[in-house]
Amino acid sequence: MAKSSVISGFYKLSPKERLAIVKDFAGLTDDEVRLLENTGSVPMDLADHMVENVIGVFPEPLGVGVNFQVNGKDYLIPMATEEPSVIAAASYAAKMVRDGGGFHTSSTAPVMIGQIQVVKLHDAGYAQMKVLTAKLEILKKANDQDPVLNSFGGGAKDLGAKVIETSMGPMLIVELYVDCRDAMGANAVNTMAEAVAPLIEQLTGGQVYLRIISNLATKRLAKAWCTVPKESLGGDAVVDGIAYASAFATADPYRAATHNKGAMNGIAAVILATGNDHRAIEAGAHAYAALRGRYTALSKWTKNKNGDLEGVIELPMAVGLIGGAVKTHPIARIAMKILNVKSANEFAEVLAAVGLAQNLAALRALASEGIQRGHMSLHARNIAVTAGAKDEMVDLVAERMVKERKVRVDRAKEILEELTKKRNSL
Ligand code: NAD
Repeated sequence: MAKSSVISGFYKLSPKERLAIVKDFAGLTDDEVRLLENTGSVPMDLADHMVENVIGVFPEPLGVGVNFQVNGKDYLIPMATEEPSVIAAASYAAKMVRDGGGFHTSSTAPVMIGQIQVVKLHDAGYAQMKVLTAKLEILKKANDQDPVLNSFGGGAKDLGAKVIETSMGPMLIVELYVDCRDAMGANAVNTMAEAVAPLIEQLTGGQVYLRIISNLATKRLAKAWCTVPKESLGGDAVVDGIAYASAFATADPYRAATHNKGAMNGIAAVILATGNDHRAIEAGAHAYAALRGRYTALSKWTKNKNGDLEGVIELPMAVGLIGGAVKTHPIARIAMKILNVKSANEFAEVLAAVGLAQNLAALRALASEGIQRGHMSLHARNIAVTAGAKDEMVDLVAERMVKERKVRVDRAKEILEELTKKRNSL
């Protein structure tokens, strides 16, 4: 009989009870169940409080990017990622940038945008005027929701109202501009947006539907720039190659997507390690890349008059030192301690620097020997493990595959079998 995924009251069960059901459904072995039960540094109880329907935790490797110097301060960068070569590449790029004086950064105030959607209006222009006239009253109502944020100097600072044309007629979109200080701010802003909605309905005579933060955080931008000596990069031809690669990404969305993905490899790894919201950062970054109507590169690299490489990146960076999982996840707390940033702004700027470093490493490899050499040797280790290699066999199998330029599980299995036979016959 086909099994049903409709499990009444699943959420009310304990992780152990849920695990028993999943075991039965998916045919898990006792060993697999034991692995899931062994949650290590994130106790099952804690995981069960963080999200719903918990049956275990999902560990990822945590590494540290080295060589980073941002505005003269040295940082160790905690990075959680499943992708080989990301951490090595960031560290390598940070070293080259260090040769040119390190990263320099800036950022705007940590202001997020909360949107309130008003529909069914007789006169959207008139409603817009009514909202703008009542600005102080609306801001007060918003700020009444979060005295703690106010006490840190944050809160709803300003308000906008725009009329947009949609497939369902004109709508009024009211926007709260909220300084979130050291929080990412989604909960804070959403609470405010919900609280002011009745007042906005009363003022406009319309009906409010959505009341939610925007992840396109154009008022919360972080910027990083650097100069890399041509000698550190490997010469004039590499500088030219990176400048050409940058021009390609600026002009072509197909290349820009991968160019930006390279930068996000580093940023997302830090976001994950610190318990921040990587979906929010990804959404913001890619929407920002398309803000002018065509998707483009978030960073730009050019050759300066000395022949050295100059790079700059700018993107929205809604990150927090408090809120979300930042303070509840024990490893995120340690990652934050390693990172040692004192404000969300400093954090955002370091992240921009990490993005620029990651982007530089990928472009340098692409513009010189190609990305596969470095990438494949690390990837080959994963393939070797997948094929069943253990201990010293991992490196032996990986090396052979890279040499043969055949990094595939079937080949890894053959090599492993061959090497095991050889070892057993000794
Ligand atoms: P939060 O509500 O847990 O914490 C923020 C609150 O902490 C503030 O409102 C303030 O009252 C208090 N606070 C204490 N010290 C502060 C300081 N120094 N600076 C600022 N505030 C301080 O979290 P949040 O940051 O409002 O929301 C983040 C969470 O919301 C994340 O988990 C995210 O995944 C989630 N979320 C995201 C979206 C989205 O991005 N679209 C939507 C909904 C929820």
